[in-house]
Amino acid sequence: MKVLVTGGSGFIGSSFIRYLLTDPQISKNISLINLDKISYAGRGKNIEHMGLSENENYKFIKTDICDFESVSQIIFTEQPEMVFNFAAESHVDRSIEESDVFEKTNFLGACNLFKSSLKNGIKKLVQISTDEVYGNIENGSFSENSNLNPSSPYSATKAAADLFALSLFKTHNMPVIITRSANNYGPYQFPEKILPLFITNLIDGKKVPLMFSEENPGLNVRDWLNVIDNCRAIWFVANNGRLGEIYNIPGENELTNIEITRMLLNHFNFGDEMIEKIPHRKAHDFRYSVKGNKLKDLGFEHMHKNLKEEIINLVEWYKNNQEWWRPLKK
Ligand code: NAD
Repeated sequence: MKVLVTGGSGFIGSSFIRYLLTDPQISKNISLINLDKISYAGRGKNIEHMGLSENENYKFIKTDICDFESVSQIIFTEQPEMVFNFAAESHVDRSIEESDVFEKTNFLGACNLFKSSLKNGIKKLVQISTDEVYGNIENGSFSENSNLNPSSPYSATKAAADLFALSLFKTHNMPVIITRSANNYGPYQFPEKILPLFITNLIDGKKVPLMFSEENPGLNVRDWLNVIDNCRAIWFVANNGRLGEIYNIPGENELTNIEITRMLLNHFNFGDEMIEKIPHRKAHDFRYSVKGNKLKDLGFEHMHKNLKEEIINLVEWYKNNQEWWRPLKK
């Protein structure tokens, strides 16, 4: 089966490519094209570092999903059966500073990809979305039917793409499935995101910048999902889910930011003196939480749920792969 992955040079996209090219069952029957513009977040040479760039079933094409002609030409020439859209601007703080590129890639670029896929008769398109589209929830968890209430320009552009995709399903029968996952953790995440930023700072004996105030001393809650489980779930849903449906992918590992920070500090034998208190971002959502019943009902099970153990493995990975992340740190 030929599969087109956009944004395959980033954190989750490259993990997804590795999953498809190395899983004994899946890899037997897969040929994969990675379409990525290589933004700052794609500069880690993840696929090269994973040793997969020369894989005979892998091909890289440098393209911007905002370029409709180019995307259409690639889809027309390559004729993939499935398209997975991971391409995005993904850092919330950057979207607060300047949202232009988020609007372009996350919404207009996604629309381009949807229209090209529709035009070329793609059998299935999986739009990778986020739990952040539902916005803040203090208690309980959002289901796939919950209202969208995004708080940041990042999550608003993702929500807009989701709605557009669903409208193309209704109007033109575009064969789309949407996944909305919790916060991912794993190797190859750009070191501006909280876990790799904190881990790489601590490796260098530097403080970690935690959003903190007297009223809210790092109490924001995030649900942590192992990137491998996210990739497994995305592939599972692509093969077992129903077209036109949304599937939440929770991590089932909720922690406050101060808890996860202290877990790391503990591991490095540091205390709270290594926390640099920084102001909360504007419209900082207190808690994200999604229900995963629909995914479970399809028969999916998480494999990696021991966050405490996994975090230690993650720290070891960043310690052992400094040649990967050092060039990416400012
Ligand atoms: P990332 O920033 O690490 O990677 C994004 C990739 O997209 C990069 O390789 C970049 O070069 C590429 N890209 C950006 N703009 C492009 C464009 N215009 N054309 C082609 N390629 C482009 O992001 P990530 O963390 O791997 O996230 C992947 C997807 O998963 C995103 O859609 C994001 O919204 C979603 N998501 C991420 C998380 C998370 O915890 N990281 C959680 C939920 C959902």
